[in-house]
Amino acid sequence: MERRVRVRFAPSPTGPLHIGGVRTALYNYIFAKKNGGDFLLRIEDTDQTRFVPGAEDYIIETFKWLGITYNEGVGIDGPYAPYRQSERKAIYKQYADQLVKNDFAYYAFDTVEELEEMRKKLEAAKLPSKYDAASRMTMKNSLTLSQDEVNTRLANNDPYVIRIKLPRKEEVRFHDIIRGWVVVQTSQMDDKVLYKSDGMPTYHLANVVDDYLMKITHVIRGEEWLPSAPLHVMLYKYLGWEQVMPQFAHLPLLLKPEGNGKLSKRDGDKLGFPVFPLEWTDPFTGEKSSGYRETGYLPEAVINMLTFLGWHPSDNREMFTIDELLDEFTLERVSKNGAKFDLNKALWFNHKYLQLKTDEQIAESLLPYVKQSGWNADINYLKQVVSLMKEKVNFAREIIENGYYFFEKPVKYDQNVISKKWLANVPEFIENLIVTLNEETEFTPENTEMAFKKLATEKNLNPSQLLQPLRVAVCGQAGGPPLFNIFAMLGKNEVCSRLAKAVSEIKPV
Ligand code: GLU
Repeated sequence: MERRVRVRFAPSPTGPLHIGGVRTALYNYIFAKKNGGDFLLRIEDTDQTRFVPGAEDYIIETFKWLGITYNEGVGIDGPYAPYRQSERKAIYKQYADQLVKNDFAYYAFDTVEELEEMRKKLEAAKLPSKYDAASRMTMKNSLTLSQDEVNTRLANNDPYVIRIKLPRKEEVRFHDIIRGWVVVQTSQMDDKVLYKSDGMPTYHLANVVDDYLMKITHVIRGEEWLPSAPLHVMLYKYLGWEQVMPQFAHLPLLLKPEGNGKLSKRDGDKLGFPVFPLEWTDPFTGEKSSGYRETGYLPEAVINMLTFLGWHPSDNREMFTIDELLDEFTLERVSKNGAKFDLNKALWFNHKYLQLKTDEQIAESLLPYVKQSGWNADINYLKQVVSLMKEKVNFAREIIENGYYFFEKPVKYDQNVISKKWLANVPEFIENLIVTLNEETEFTPENTEMAFKKLATEKNLNPSQLLQPLRVAVCGQAGGPPLFNIFAMLGKNEVCSRLAKAVSEIKPV
């Protein structure tokens, strides 16, 4: 019988979610939706020493911002609650016990010093320093100690761990949807700890038990978990769950832009782009890391950009809304090779999605910044600024950063333009222009442009050489939307007052 598709995103709350993690969540979400299945959010917090306060809320807020919804999980619960592993503590022990009882796992009582000594000995003998079928027979565990001694130690509450008992030589094989057949020998693996005497399972045991209990059909996760997969496959076998073992799909790593190495949490602010979806302040050190949201990225752009890191559609289309991705996405078209982060592409996506917004939407989003700057501009004025500026920017906020002169007089004049273009005849021309403009009854772009050209011709000057100085006088800078449209927006009084100010402040070259 076909099982209902159920996938999960299972982060450990050890810090802010990395964009690689967001991509994993996104692929899971898309895969579930596409297949009419369920998407779960499970928090894997068994390692309490690495717990970071705020990390779980951060994940939930990220999902909300991007519009990633889940059917079951922390915050909303569901039929397999609780979804936080620290609250499922009592569930795992019986499975660890079952493994010991069936001789697939054993108690190990070795102290830190004893383990260290073993490591040194094996290294000296040029052997792999791991706890495995060979070395375990020299250690203090329930395979080497008498049953009585084991019982006494357990009764005395001596610290112990439960380790999986892997065979010395056996082939572990499994099929990965992205990588094909993966084959590993148990001789390359070690007897990983599954359970600790503090009552906490390790990631491996809790992950497998929960995937089984929560009826997960596909495990879609980052490549960094590929080395753990053979162990998980053995656990499914030893727990008698082989028939319902999920299918695996290990996603390619996200690489630095130059492609040399994994994109790590430390890279982003160094390389000039965020590696976190939202801004994050480290609760211990107070250190701040930038986020896509605060940098001004639109959620649609982040979704499109992230989906394309490691996946490609069947044709060369690049713009996909989340609903279009549901049609097009398949795990089979996820690449095995690491995906290089591309900042220009991220900017391009944001630019494209910004152009799809209405002027009104963008203006609304800018209102708080306008207020913050103490400018008094209403939404209609802002809409006009947006319509003149948006084609030239990647982020909405750049509209007011680059076009601050729509709201206040220029704070400085571009010296580069002045030194080349503010010729001796410019001040007099501008003074004459002020008189002419003052006579305009309708201050439209067409009228002011015509008045300007007429005056230039009368004075025997080349209008194209006057445009730059004029722009600098009114806007302080070169470049920007058509000058006479800016004139019309600022209005006669403001334009004339800026022109007069510039003439008195700028010295001709
Ligand atoms: N807790 C693991 C993580 O932090 C989950 C790995 C998995 O999906 O199995 O990524």
